[in-house]
Amino acid sequence: MEKINEVIIDYKGSIFKTLKREDGRFYCPICGAGENAPIFFTESDLIRHICNHDQIKKALAKKKKE
Ligand SMILES: [Zn+2]
Repeated sequence: MEKINEVIIDYKGSIFKTLKREDGRFYCPICGAGENAPIFFTESDLIRHICNHDQIKKALAKKKKE
């Protein structure tokens, strides 16, 4: 079974708690570490993905206010 560690990434002052595999790749903390979960090779790939989640959340929050 693969080992997954919880790591903290500091990206331009934004702190992300995420999951790092033993081979150095990352899982999205929102999508999780399931069999079909996306895997990211670099921190910047992961951050970009997390930002997409953030935009979705903002879009939903905006819709609720309207
Ligand atoms: Zn995700």
